[in-house]
Amino acid sequence: MIIQLNPGVTLSEAESIAFAHKFILCRRSDSLLLITPSSLKKLPVNLEKDVKESWVFDDDIQLSSKKFYNRTRPVTIGELEIGGNHNRTIIMGGPCSVESEEQIIQSAELVKSCGLSVLRAGAFKPRTSPYSFQGLGEKGMQLLRKAADGAGLKVISEVKDSTHLEIVAEYADIIQIGAKAMYDQGILRFCSKTVKPVLIKRGFGSTVQEWLQAAEFVLSGGNENVMLCERGIRTFETKSRFTLDLCGVAWVKQHSNLPVILDPSHAMGYAFGVPDLARACVAMGVDGLLIETHPDPPAALSDAAQQLNPEEFRELIASLHPVAAAIGKTIC
Ligand code: PEP
Ligand code: MN
Repeated sequence: MIIQLNPGVTLSEAESIAFAHKFILCRRSDSLLLITPSSLKKLPVNLEKDVKESWVFDDDIQLSSKKFYNRTRPVTIGELEIGGNHNRTIIMGGPCSVESEEQIIQSAELVKSCGLSVLRAGAFKPRTSPYSFQGLGEKGMQLLRKAADGAGLKVISEVKDSTHLEIVAEYADIIQIGAKAMYDQGILRFCSKTVKPVLIKRGFGSTVQEWLQAAEFVLSGGNENVMLCERGIRTFETKSRFTLDLCGVAWVKQHSNLPVILDPSHAMGYAFGVPDLARACVAMGVDGLLIETHPDPPAALSDAAQQLNPEEFRELIASLHPVAAAIGKTIC
């Protein structure tokens, strides 16, 4: 249950109520909210006088539910807005990893020349083997920021554990919580205490319920700037790296108020399928896409097979415009 307190209730009174009932107190710019487990269906009797409005839920998808806020929330990064009322599909493009100054500058220039606004790349890579390239760390974040600033782009970059959260938060405009980190409560709670936009990738073995509950950790801690990212789940199919769960995305679009970003690159795992999937995602009317592109994919130090070369990336972006226009959206 979400309980919005009357404007007359002070912060210290709200804190006492939250403590007494073991509810979460969530401070919004314009109101104080108490969040209870969804199993609570009725207001505690002695609380009724302090309540402006309340919402009851079937499960713990509460702050992110359209039952609470029935539109898509806007996530603002300077002049760029993702979600909200905009008819824009935001494409976040760039390599899997920052590898060198030259590589990330070339990537930034490509993204900029395609008329896009967000550069993606990781400097702290959650690799499956300790012997694979692990990312350039803080040096990589510095190169990424410099390349993006040079091209006038925003930056999204991933965190894989809590040891480098501050570094990523310092250099990136959007913190990407990697699929393998979706359950990391240290990361979720850290992100809940910043106002920095957060993109939560769905763990490849996680249900939609678990994914949205991860988002609830960030929202209930006070950060409203949350986006979801579907990047493929593990199924019995082995021909593609993962399976892009568009049914899950349709559910989220219907029931959740969070912007949804799709990542066809990690789902497919091979460059050849990415353009078709990307067009399908745009046609679905999602809020954005994450697409991997590298100046020289065969030489990439991570995810080489799935990254588009510059020409493929340019062609793909050009092909997205008419698809977006067909559903009344623009690509940027
Ligand atoms: C990435 O975006 O490069 C990445 C590692 O993604 P995921 O966490 O979805 O595997
Ligand atoms: Mn990658």
